[in-house]
Amino acid sequence: MIRTSPANMLVVCMCINLLLLQVVDSSNIDYGCTHLNDSWVVTGYSNIYDTEANIYRLSVDYTNNLIKVYSHGIPDYNRYFTASDITFLNSRPKKSSDFRSSSSTTKNAGDYVEFGEDIGFTTTGCSMGYWPPGPVCADAQTGTSAITSFTLLPAEEASTSGCYVGNSAQGLLVNGVALFGWSDTNSYNSAGIWHQTAISFEYYDFDICNGHAAMGLYHHHTYPPCLAEKLNDVGQGHSPIYGWIKDGFPIYGPYQSANTLAESCWKKRDYSASSSTGCGVSNKRTCVYNDPFDTTQGTKTVTSGPDTTATVTSLSGNIFTAVSGFYYEDYYYDSACGSSGGQYLNEYNGHDHDNLGFHYHFTIDTNSNPTFPYSMGVKFYGCITEDCFTSIPNHRRLDSVEDNSAPQLGFIQFLYFNLFN
Ligand SMILES: [Zn+2]
Ligand SMILES: [Zn+2]
Repeated sequence: MIRTSPANMLVVCMCINLLLLQVVDSSNIDYGCTHLNDSWVVTGYSNIYDTEANIYRLSVDYTNNLIKVYSHGIPDYNRYFTASDITFLNSRPKKSSDFRSSSSTTKNAGDYVEFGEDIGFTTTGCSMGYWPPGPVCADAQTGTSAITSFTLLPAEEASTSGCYVGNSAQGLLVNGVALFGWSDTNSYNSAGIWHQTAISFEYYDFDICNGHAAMGLYHHHTYPPCLAEKLNDVGQGHSPIYGWIKDGFPIYGPYQSANTLAESCWKKRDYSASSSTGCGVSNKRTCVYNDPFDTTQGTKTVTSGPDTTATVTSLSGNIFTAVSGFYYEDYYYDSACGSSGGQYLNEYNGHDHDNLGFHYHFTIDTNSNPTFPYSMGVKFYGCITEDCFTSIPNHRRLDSVEDNSAPQLGFIQFLYFNLFN
């Protein structure tokens, strides 16, 4: 085993937002070894682009304790369609216009489907028919956008405000696919409050593997079921590593132990009239928590969101009832839950147990539906060396579907690029 650093090594972690020098003890866990031995899938899988492997090279800079990961960003999600895949596809509310013919996919249960293969969608700006109408098609990443760097000595964020998860790539999964956060970047009436969750508003904009592309960059916002299939993670024990987050900490799959899911302690507000988490009038979104991390700080009146019984229309023209959970402000962190330990996660959606060091979990419910905040977040546990947002980053309403922020797979590379060359 290659050791990247002596135990108890002191590391200097520089947070640009504070110009703060932070000295931490990174004893216990050798994240470098974890990177090299347990996680990245470096293979010769081919994909629709017939390029090289998804992760095709790792290089370690021991002097600066960084690992550099080279990826095309296109997964190997070739798989057999299940009966529930077909049922899901053929029950789309806009199936008559989403599919080219017969209001259904051209595939059947049991068919082997390559990632990107035509399954009958009327995709625009893309000829492959794999993705539903709206989002752009995925492109293989090249040049600097194909390189992601992670620190091997992650440290806890020290600033009081912390760093909020941004738009664009926030991590890289072990098959080379980008991970985005909970947001679709938009807010209700573009008012900068009642921020939309991607899984709610883009529910019908994802492919069968819960992925889609922005500016050509294929990514997930939540639990990736097709990666889970590839990793054979079906709840036989603690999940394996699914990826690495830009703060340098790993994210594991949804299982805490055999048949037990790790559980998010972010809860949905109950907007009924008598509820202590609502706004006093049934179904009304007229107030938000002053600090959703600490509900004892109370609520404040804000520009109203839609009633929880109202319908909202997504950018792809799908219509939903805006039940609690559609917006970031529909959630609060339950600190009593978080302090329970075990499978109950902290406010960053992670924990530290069994000599794994701090790690995040993808969170889902027993029906495999993603549960907020879905992956890392709402703030990072670790120190962010660039793009530390001290509040939820600006959102803007876009004319086309999707969070079109430019791909940013280079995280730390921006700071350290010269050190590699
Ligand atoms: Zn765990
Ligand atoms: Zn997205």
